[in-house]
Amino acid sequence: NDESTVTITVVGASGDLAKKKIFPALFALYYEDCLPKHFTIFGYARSNMTDAELRNMVSRTLTCRIDKRENCNEKMEEFLKRCFYHSGQYDSEEHFRDLDKKLKQHEGSRVSNRLFYLSIPPNIFLDVVKCASISSSSVNGWTRVIVEKPFGRDSDSSAALTRGLKQYLVEDQIFRIDHYLGKELVENLSVLRFSNLVFEPLWSRQYIRNVQLIFSEDFGTEGRGGYFDRYGIIRDIMQNHLLQILAIFAMETPISLEAEDIRNEKVKVLCSMKPLQLEDVVIGQYKSHTKGGTTYPAYTDDKTVPKDSLTPTFAAAALFINNARWDGVPFLMKAGKALHTKGAEIRVQFRHVPGNLYKRSFGTDLDTSTNELVIRVQPDEAIYLKINNKIPGLGMRLDRKTDVETCPRYSKEIPDAYERLLLDAIEGERRLFIRSDELDAAWELFTPLLKELEEKRIAPELYPYGSRGPVGAHYLAAKYNVRWGDLTTEHKA
Ligand code: NAP
Repeated sequence: NDESTVTITVVGASGDLAKKKIFPALFALYYEDCLPKHFTIFGYARSNMTDAELRNMVSRTLTCRIDKRENCNEKMEEFLKRCFYHSGQYDSEEHFRDLDKKLKQHEGSRVSNRLFYLSIPPNIFLDVVKCASISSSSVNGWTRVIVEKPFGRDSDSSAALTRGLKQYLVEDQIFRIDHYLGKELVENLSVLRFSNLVFEPLWSRQYIRNVQLIFSEDFGTEGRGGYFDRYGIIRDIMQNHLLQILAIFAMETPISLEAEDIRNEKVKVLCSMKPLQLEDVVIGQYKSHTKGGTTYPAYTDDKTVPKDSLTPTFAAAALFINNARWDGVPFLMKAGKALHTKGAEIRVQFRHVPGNLYKRSFGTDLDTSTNELVIRVQPDEAIYLKINNKIPGLGMRLDRKTDVETCPRYSKEIPDAYERLLLDAIEGERRLFIRSDELDAAWELFTPLLKELEEKRIAPELYPYGSRGPVGAHYLAAKYNVRWGDLTTEHKA
């Protein structure tokens, strides 16, 4: 509404995430005319910076989409004029009071709405929430806070963080971001399922043999392992990003697209799952590898990582959902750093065709593989279905090369996940943010395993930098009659 203002305060504005993601996403929203008419952006951090210095720092990371090059510089100038900086300590009510005064000058007599983005290390979340809520909450509009993972290290620390946040905020003010939920293909997953007659009837144990959720990075920690070493790949990727995708994949049809209806269904999935068992998990850590004359470092060669670190940089796990739809279907997760490829995808392997006519008639030599639906979340977003086809010619040979692409390639650049999530937070749309009970349920699944790994000091299986990860992951899949799909071999744009 024209009578209200929105101020977005990026706390930790001098940091990496702010520069790389938050300011560029805000600019993209501005360019698309998605920000409210009266908006102001404030950077807040301890570093000394003037408004001009902040603008200069931010300007270096702004870009325009290929199809939006017109007026790009002009738009950037306009945007930068609405960015300001305030230097202060994170635990000083007084410094947040000074910020409040500046915000008020910009807001004038309009209704003031305030969004705080905590782009800071988690140990100072509570200091900031306390000071910001006491000294710079809006008096006549809404105040919301976006927090980034990590949301604790286990059930107890996560619950303590939530309790701390709730001393100063109510649930509706907390926007826990999981940027995977803002990704185009994760949004499309529900559309695929709930608005196409052909998929939903197949979406159960009756037709689906297994589901794979795979995340792969082709680089290591590269000197930035300090943060990672405290968390490891299970906490960094599986317990949040992959589990969130799993919940959306497996949930029952929500009664509406309202945030609470969707989040209720996701919580039900998480509560129907068994906590992870050690025998259903394989952990790995990358070791040094020389290839083509280049030596790639081991994880423990990273100077910010202790030499004797047992932190997993790779993990594979089998999870099960104990409900009528998914009873007995393995959901296999795999996530790793320093692997041979990069990408994130969901693979749905369907059951074998019962009494397969072609196999019966032409014998076991005929390759009648099962159907597979692949949802590639990144890079080269795509959804495709692998179906058996006859290879043209006299004899009878089949293959699955002719994939049916179910999602057209739009000649449109896909917005970054942070754009969607920031816009949703401004508009109060909570569908893609994680509610406290969801977070608790997610931690309950992983905490016993994480504790056991740490208490027993279980050593990860070493795998060479740039390889496919530990062999153990293949044995784990084989235990459930599954073969991992291969991210590299097929259907790249
Ligand atoms: P960062 O660069 O390490 O920190 C952001 C800012 O916080 C710094 O510029 C610094 O600002 C302040 N800060 C850093 N260490 C501090 C400390 N020990 N005590 C007090 N202040 C400190 O972090 P980031 O990479 O931008 O990430 C921000 C948050 O998002 C983190 O919680 C991170 O876990 C999460 N996250 C980051 C990414 C990413 O891609 N980087 C992805 C997902 C989640 P001043 O010194 O100027 O005050």
